[in-house]
Amino acid sequence: MKKICVVGTGYVGLVTGVLFADLGNDVTCIEIDQRKLGILRSGKSPIYEPGLEELLRRNLDAGRIRFTDDYDAGVPNADFVFITVGTPMNDDGSADLKYVEAAARSVGRALRNPSVIIDKSTVPVGTGDWVTDLIKREAGDKPFAVVSNPEFLREGSAVTDFQRPDRIVLGSLDHEAAEKVAELHAPLQAPVHITDLRTAEMIKYASNAFLATRISFINEIASICEQLGADVKEVARGMGADKRIGPHFLDAGIGYGGSCFPKDVLALHHMAASAGCHPQLLQAVMDINRDTRMSFITKLENVLGDVRGKTIGVLGLAFKPNTDDMREAASVTIIETLTERGAQIRAYDPVAMEAAEKLLPDVLYCATPYDVAKSADALLIVTEWNEFKQLDFERLKRFMRRPIILDGRNIYDPAVIEAKGFTYRGVGRGVPRPARGSEVEITPEDLIEVYSAD
Ligand code: NAD
Repeated sequence: MKKICVVGTGYVGLVTGVLFADLGNDVTCIEIDQRKLGILRSGKSPIYEPGLEELLRRNLDAGRIRFTDDYDAGVPNADFVFITVGTPMNDDGSADLKYVEAAARSVGRALRNPSVIIDKSTVPVGTGDWVTDLIKREAGDKPFAVVSNPEFLREGSAVTDFQRPDRIVLGSLDHEAAEKVAELHAPLQAPVHITDLRTAEMIKYASNAFLATRISFINEIASICEQLGADVKEVARGMGADKRIGPHFLDAGIGYGGSCFPKDVLALHHMAASAGCHPQLLQAVMDINRDTRMSFITKLENVLGDVRGKTIGVLGLAFKPNTDDMREAASVTIIETLTERGAQIRAYDPVAMEAAEKLLPDVLYCATPYDVAKSADALLIVTEWNEFKQLDFERLKRFMRRPIILDGRNIYDPAVIEAKGFTYRGVGRGVPRPARGSEVEITPEDLIEVYSAD
């Protein structure tokens, strides 16, 4: 059993604290947000994350975890101190390190015994050296080591991602400290990569940038498919069967969002540009992501005409299913743009409506997808929650003013929905194909004209 202190109880910190407690360790979580502290102490999770609340309660009851705003209650006796505070983006695209700085200083001031301080927040390359310096200034000659341990969990499956990670990355100039952190993770039985500090920090950014690149790549292929009459879903399936490519992160849609990809790609771009590099691929990834969202709106206007005075139903608000996180959600850009253009929005999300209300006050929030459909001129599927995968289309059609569905996540088969009497548009599919056995000879130039006509 180790004594662990976790600073910051957001999506990463709370999962880290609760699951290390569940592995039998003694965990103290430090949180400065009093509202969150109150919720946590009552055994509730302030975030929606499947399975987390039950684990929280179990470990609170067993006395293995506690929550406080007092660094002196957690840091002095800790073998390991995890820093898991947020690193949002600054206006210029760089990572805002004010929370990391405050946390590092407070940890430094509270240090008493030798401890390993582990940076789990996603931080620009070189931050580990800076954090070491900050702590040294506060802690004087008390011994400590800093290890970078970037986090790869995904919201929505954070509990199982923590329990079964693909790998543990540990970066440090102090190999012995990195080995101690590796040992702490031993029950997870995951491969461990020990590197220097800066390399570990870079592995996190490079991983997120690569995943975002795959999403923008398939979205670019989707818009080409729309023009040339291919189905991007089948294209992705065909590509993904190739072991060199693999099937993941090849879902065309309305782009990536959330608290990580947008800010991390931008921060890496900013770091690269500041270092005199020319990150042109990262720029393209961000441009495509922005265009993907906007072209979804254009697609709606192509089907519906001017949206002024129209009622648009939105199914799904969270940036992805199984979370209530609204940070950089596509729904925000789409709803704000449609509202600016004069549309009225009705929306439903199984868990994110409370969080959404703060960002999107003009939306009429509904209790079910069928309430959303009432008098709607079109329905947009924005988040691929499971409960949107088997909608009763007859019922929807009875409620809607016009039977128009725009499926931003390609949940449905276009032919099936069209057969139910809807005008359906997915992403990168659904373009009419020329009839089989046509007598007319078609040249490659004609084909491009046929497919561009939609
Ligand atoms: P978050 O904003 O949800 O949580 C951060 C928490 O830290 C908040 O509760 C805040 O009140 C608290 N905090 C801030 N300053 C503090 C201080 N000085 N002392 C104590 N508590 C303090 O953030 P998050 O989504 O958990 O992300 C944390 C870090 O992990 C970020 O760098 C992020 O990029 C990275 N990350 C996030 C995810 C994810 O899916 N959310 C995945 C991998 C990595």
